[in-house]
Amino acid sequence: MEAKVKIDAELSVGGDEFIVIAGPCAVEDEKQMEQIGKYLSKLGVKIIRGGAFKPRTDPSSFQGLGKKGLEILKSMKEKFGVKVVSEIIDPRDVEMAYEYIDIYQIGSRNMQNFSLLKEVGKTNKPVLLKRGMSATINEWIKASEYIRSEGNEKIILCERGIRTFEDYTRNTLDLISVPIIKSKTGYPVIVDPSHGTGRRELIVPASRAAVAIGADGIMVEVHPCPDIALSDGFQSLDFEEFEKLLVEIRQVSKLLRKADQ
Ligand code: PEP
Ligand code: MN
Repeated sequence: MEAKVKIDAELSVGGDEFIVIAGPCAVEDEKQMEQIGKYLSKLGVKIIRGGAFKPRTDPSSFQGLGKKGLEILKSMKEKFGVKVVSEIIDPRDVEMAYEYIDIYQIGSRNMQNFSLLKEVGKTNKPVLLKRGMSATINEWIKASEYIRSEGNEKIILCERGIRTFEDYTRNTLDLISVPIIKSKTGYPVIVDPSHGTGRRELIVPASRAAVAIGADGIMVEVHPCPDIALSDGFQSLDFEEFEKLLVEIRQVSKLLRKADQ
C-alpha cells in the first residue's frame, strides 16, 4: 500500500513535510476565496480546502454553491498555484468535479456511502476519506478498501473526531487512531482539529498533539471573519490565529526533530 500520496510531482502527503490544509468550511463567494487564497498561499499553504457541496444537518442551512463553488476553487489554482480539496456528496458529481479539484473529500456522513466510495475509487485522483462520526477504526479501514478495490490507492485518511457522551466538544478527537491507522494501513493520516473539537480555542493544542502523535498533516478551517461565516464560524480561525497556529506547529516539529537526533 502507498505510504505516500502524490498530489503532483512536487507535493506529497505522507512524506517528510507536515501538510497544512486550510480554508473555509464553505466556499461562499469569489471575494472571500480570493482573500483567503491570497493570504494562505503567501504563508506557504499548498492545499486549500473549501466546501462547494455542504452536507448540512438542517436542509434550510446554507447548502454550498455547488458547481459554481468548484469553479471558484479552480480559479484559486490558477491564481495562486495552490492545490484544492473539496467534498463530493453525490456519486453523480464525481466525474463532473474531476477537472476542478485535486483531491476528492469524502465526508464523515458519507464514509459508508459505498456507491460514492466506489465512484471515487474508479478515478486516479487522491481521496481524503474522513472518519465517520460513529465509525470504529476497523469500519473506517474497510471503507477505504471500497476505494482501493476499484483501483485507486491514493488514499489519505482524516481523523475528525467521533461522537461520545462528552458534549463539551463537538466531537471527541480520537488521536490515538493516527498511529493505529498508520501501522494497519500504511496510508497517510491527517487530523481535522476544527471538526474534531468544534471549538476555536482548542484548535492549537489539538494541532500540537497531532504533530506529536505522528500525523502527516492537519486540515483546519480558516475564515477572514469567522463571526459572519455561513457555516462553522465557531470552529474557524481568523488569519491572525492561523499564523499563530503555524508558529506553534513549527515549534513542536522542531522539538521532535531535536529529540530524534
Ligand atoms: C468538512 O470538512 O467540511 C466537513 C463537513 O467535515 P465532516 O465531514 O468531518 O463533518
Ligand atoms: Mn465545517
